[in-house]
Amino acid sequence: MYDIIIIGAGPAGLTAAIYARRAAKTVLVLEAASCGGQIINTPDIENYPVAMHISGFEFANKLSEQAKALGAEIKFEKALEICDGDSEKTVKTRKNSYSAKAVILATGSENRRLGLENEDKLVGRGISYCATCDGAFYKNKTVAVVGGGNTALEDALYLTDLAEKVYLIHRRDEFRGEEATVAQLRQKENLSFVYNSRVTKLNAGKRLESIEVTDKDGNVSTIELNGLFVAVGRIPENQNFAQLVTLDEGGYIPAGEDCHTNVPGIFVAGDNRAKAVRQLVTATADGAVAATEAVKYASSH
Ligand code: NAP
Repeated sequence: MYDIIIIGAGPAGLTAAIYARRAAKTVLVLEAASCGGQIINTPDIENYPVAMHISGFEFANKLSEQAKALGAEIKFEKALEICDGDSEKTVKTRKNSYSAKAVILATGSENRRLGLENEDKLVGRGISYCATCDGAFYKNKTVAVVGGGNTALEDALYLTDLAEKVYLIHRRDEFRGEEATVAQLRQKENLSFVYNSRVTKLNAGKRLESIEVTDKDGNVSTIELNGLFVAVGRIPENQNFAQLVTLDEGGYIPAGEDCHTNVPGIFVAGDNRAKAVRQLVTATADGAVAATEAVKYASSH
């Protein structure tokens, strides 16, 4: 029996672990993959206060070391279900059940797919969702990035230093991501913007060989390439808890700035919470708030 179980070891979950441990609560963090969440895919974080430049990987490592040094227990098991008992909540994984007075859901989100035929089969054979993980395979090659948010912009920027040619394909002619990064991209001679266009087909033999792109007027063209980096947003990972916790139409958990869900003793922190700004700094802020609320709950139950 723990005081608090935190589901997800991204920036929100690990920050929550730090705050809960500093309040002397026993803490179990359950993580389905690896510590750090999506931030490990960011090559260079430039907008986190004080850290002028830090890689997402280093940020995640430092954060998990800090949580562990303070005594948080981290287990690599996927939380499949939560049961809300009278005096405790039980979190079930494939092999185990863990109980706690309070639970913080900090599960973040997963990559949205384009939904094209053969997309899944071509992952690792020309399709990637992580430029920092796979970019090095495309040194001096031709790649495209699809998307118009900060992830797509940053991926494209990162790839311009590796690949010979980078196409950035966006379905509109205005980017959702930061103008500062767009300005950096405009300086890159090996980058071409492809506006008002969608990737409509993947052409492959053993590997991806080219893509079909359709513009808003229905004109179809083909781009020969070696790699396609898909950065079209993310889907909140809340489905396993949907029977207990209310989700909104986008699958996010509605909760105010106090991070309370509709279930007493269950809190939400980070990108899986319904909110306007999803940034590293808002994820860690959520972690601090959710932990403070969970500590109060655990102390009074
Ligand atoms: P996002 O901001 O939701 O952007 C997704 C992009 O993909 C949008 O431009 C969207 O187009 C496009 N898109 C969505 N579905 C599509 C489809 N089926 N086909 C083609 N295009 C599609 O996602 P994100 O870039 O992954 O960023 C997620 C959050 O993390 C954001 O809040 C972002 O600011 C944050 N982030 C921050 C940093 C940083 O602070 N350094 C770095 C990375 C990400 P429309 O614009 O037309 O909707």
